[in-house]
Amino acid sequence: MALMITDECINCDVCEPECPNDAISMGELYYQIEPDRCTECVGHFDTPQCVEICPVACIPTHPEHVESRETLWQKFQRLQNAQSVAH
Ligand code: SF4
Ligand code: SF4
Repeated sequence: MALMITDECINCDVCEPECPNDAISMGELYYQIEPDRCTECVGHFDTPQCVEICPVACIPTHPEHVESRETLWQKFQRLQNAQSVAH
């Protein structure tokens, strides 16, 4: 599943640099996660790093982006390939 940030976010800035996929960015009012880039940290870490570090626990799974571990793994590989093409 991709994760999402709710309006409980206090814009503390700590999650953005922790994301290995650059999926987190500042939105209009609070931080947001780009579903196409969030692998729930699959491929990089055992646990979602943003969830680990968020002080207000405002990062649930995205109900419209329910994905299996296999799908997340494929997304990870797609992102890796895109990165190697870009560099
Ligand atoms: S779960 Fe991992 S990949 Fe997804 S937004 Fe959080 S840190 Fe980034
Ligand atoms: S760590 Fe949590 S509160 Fe802080 S910016 Fe990220 S989502 Fe918002």
